[in-house]
Amino acid sequence: MLVLEEAVKCLLCHTNAITETELIPLLTSTNRILAAPLLAMVDQPPFPRSPLDGYAVRGQDTEGAGKDFPKRLKVIGTVYAGEVFTGTVREKEAVRITTGAPIPEGADTVIRQEDTDYGREEVKIYRGSPPYENYCCQGEDYRKGDILLESGMRMDGIGIALAASLGKELIEVYRKPKVAVISTGDELIQPGASLPPGKIYDANRHLISGRLMDFGLMPFASLHGRDDVQGMAEMIYKFLGEADLIVTTGGVSVGEKDIMHQVLSLLPAEKLFWRVEVKPGTPTLAAVLGNTLLICLSGNPFAAAANFELLVRPVLGKMTRDKRLEVKRCRAVMENDFIKPKGTRRFLRGYTEDGKVWVSAGNHASGTLMAMVGSNCLIEISKEQAGAGKGDEVWVYLR
Ligand code: AMP
Ligand code: MG
Repeated sequence: MLVLEEAVKCLLCHTNAITETELIPLLTSTNRILAAPLLAMVDQPPFPRSPLDGYAVRGQDTEGAGKDFPKRLKVIGTVYAGEVFTGTVREKEAVRITTGAPIPEGADTVIRQEDTDYGREEVKIYRGSPPYENYCCQGEDYRKGDILLESGMRMDGIGIALAASLGKELIEVYRKPKVAVISTGDELIQPGASLPPGKIYDANRHLISGRLMDFGLMPFASLHGRDDVQGMAEMIYKFLGEADLIVTTGGVSVGEKDIMHQVLSLLPAEKLFWRVEVKPGTPTLAAVLGNTLLICLSGNPFAAAANFELLVRPVLGKMTRDKRLEVKRCRAVMENDFIKPKGTRRFLRGYTEDGKVWVSAGNHASGTLMAMVGSNCLIEISKEQAGAGKGDEVWVYLR
């Protein structure tokens, strides 16, 4: 039996960060990890531009202007955003300009239209502006050659906007890991079908697939298999070399129907470990089959959920390079009590906020789902403790 940290270490030893990359449309890149730095090929903005609607002028021509002694300038043209004024602003001249339009040659600032008489042929300036006061410099946002986003960063709306501002249509990201999800159990019925006596609906296949989707990872395959050694071995075999990771649930304990041990013996698998010192989910089994990692979780939904967070999530973090998937834990003070026997390292469903943590209400059996609703962390109660009470400090693992 391995302690949790050793089990994680062992899994990470057999996990490779994905190196293959792909070019994808910018708008589909949310949550994807950049495989190359985003480099500015242009200055942004590409030309000096006006920050407001008014008149582009030479600042020195407006010096000393006031309400009662306006400066009069000759209006030699108009430039709207998207256009270019080809002439040059000379002494005592002005060009009518709108926000975002390139500031014409010769002008070095813009007078707000509210500080003028809105003149068409000649404009009266009631308030002067020193050079470059109202002036967006070329490259004020970023300059050609700047690294805008480092390789390894996760794309989000801001990253997408930056890439768009460069004119990029496609973006190079690491491919996503291919994760196959398999639930096992003769008792499982898929949602949508009617429920015969003795059967239950398959929650785990959806739990693991849903959690992958929370991380922006669509399962590569999501299947249910029966408690049939040969059939399950064939199902897994098909994914070898195809999937980076296979996550199964059920059949890892010591019962007659706990088939995963026999399944492994039929496959070209190197067993990494069986049993981890955590509750729930002790009987987790892991193996490596060529380049495919296989992690078999217990079938109890909370055991599967907790061990997905503790063991599978770090693997996905390494594969994807997504820092969000790294396990984040912190200390928090218990706001209610939980009693358990000594001798097991227990993980509980809880809710944490501002350094405090509450054990979720409801049934804490490993087969229950309800206490997970609204929970945002796992609370760890060590092997040495016989529970934890209000005021005790504990580790919490954030979702
Ligand atoms: P097992 O790990 O296969 O021994 O299953 C442990 C418990 O979890 C049993 O009560 C199973 O019926 C239940 N279980 C197994 N797989 C699932 C699943 N996919 N969805 C919901 N419950 C499950
Ligand atoms: Mg089973």
